[in-house]
Amino acid sequence: MFSKIRNHLTMVYSAVMACFLISFIVASYTGLVWVLYREEQRDIEAFAKEEAHEHVNLLRQRKLSPNSPVEEDEDQSDGKLFHYAFDVNGRQISSSQPAREVRDAITEHIHNWQDGDGEAVLTKLHLAGDKKGYFMLCKIMVYEGEDVLGTVFVGKDITTYYVMLKRILFMLCVVCLFFLIIATFAGHMLAGRTIVPIRNSFLRQREFVADASHELRTPLSVMLTSVDVIRTDDDNKLSSFSQEVLDDMKEEIRRMTKIVSDLLTLARADAGAANIIKEKFDISLVAGKVIRSLLPIAAEKGIKLEFAGADSLIVQADKERMNQLLLILLDNAIKYGQQEGSVILTVKQAGGSKGTVNLIVQDDGAGIPQEQQQLIFERFYRVDKVRSREAGGNGLGLAIAKWIVEAHGGTIRVESTIGVGSTFIVTLPGVECREKRL
Ligand code: ADP
Repeated sequence: MFSKIRNHLTMVYSAVMACFLISFIVASYTGLVWVLYREEQRDIEAFAKEEAHEHVNLLRQRKLSPNSPVEEDEDQSDGKLFHYAFDVNGRQISSSQPAREVRDAITEHIHNWQDGDGEAVLTKLHLAGDKKGYFMLCKIMVYEGEDVLGTVFVGKDITTYYVMLKRILFMLCVVCLFFLIIATFAGHMLAGRTIVPIRNSFLRQREFVADASHELRTPLSVMLTSVDVIRTDDDNKLSSFSQEVLDDMKEEIRRMTKIVSDLLTLARADAGAANIIKEKFDISLVAGKVIRSLLPIAAEKGIKLEFAGADSLIVQADKERMNQLLLILLDNAIKYGQQEGSVILTVKQAGGSKGTVNLIVQDDGAGIPQEQQQLIFERFYRVDKVRSREAGGNGLGLAIAKWIVEAHGGTIRVESTIGVGSTFIVTLPGVECREKRL
């Protein structure tokens, strides 16, 4: 139970940490990209204005004498920054070229320019050899008064920044993953420390229940015997009222003794101190005995108590606990069964799986609402508290039944329909012994 809580806490810690780290990566990476983008955009726009200013005279001359010779290209094969200037007729009049491998893609993009002027835009271009390049490009129109003199394009190759950002993102992810692993280990340790006081108080409480139940058993049996003695002492001239009070007391002491004994069983089960002692025995015989012991109670309600299934079925299990299990289930079936109804106990080999035995208790009582069918196996849970108390129940029977079944590696479930009845099905795997010799 505690390792489950610890794992759950660790998962919660790690999930919180993962959310925090992912938010950190997203926020810091987006911030970085945005700052760099804005910085480059501003630089290129300033560079574009500078180039436009520098080209005003040249463009004016070109406008006056359109056939004058064109300036030679300044070849900057490793240049990150580049520019192209065109006169009003679209003739290139000056340029500082980018690196050779990107030149064609840039000129093609400039000739098919789609974006507006004055504002730098980030552009992704496909280069030769399936490569991609990232550029900050800006177009600016050069005016003299109202007259257009030409156009200047400027740009910067920022592919290296892009690659660097990708590396930074990868590094951030690796670092965060590393921290997440560390946080998971730390979370596991912290969760371990957190549950120490809880575990201690749980253990103390469990010990207390076990000790208290154990200590209460003796005085309760003394009280029961004392009441019996007073009740049967003929010299005691008890009024009928006193006799009734004594009978009620006896009933309450019996009920208390049952609760104390059930609590002790569960406390020992929790502490792992309730041993399961397995032996070979005929479970059909045990079932027959339990049925016989309950016949008088069943008869009080006119209930027909029947046994169905194998005449003999040898199993390897804890005989006392199996006896207790059948007693709990049959007692419930009678308690919550209808007057003049019927209760059937079936003990049989489970079809399909080898060595598995089914114990099935079926009644035609009031049934259990669907939403409560899982809850009835919890301690002190009762569908109808008043009815259970009147019938002498304390809400611990099915919790003990569940523990016995699980201690044998089995399962218990209920199928029930309101107004039709309930069927408790116990499945015990690997308990059946093939040889009949005991
Ligand atoms: P109790 O001592 O109250 O019978 P149990 O743990 O044995 O406690 O059962 C829990 C509750 O499950 C009961 O209070 C009852 O409401 C319901 N229950 C158990 N068996 C049956 C049954 N055969 N038919 C209807 N209700 C049942």
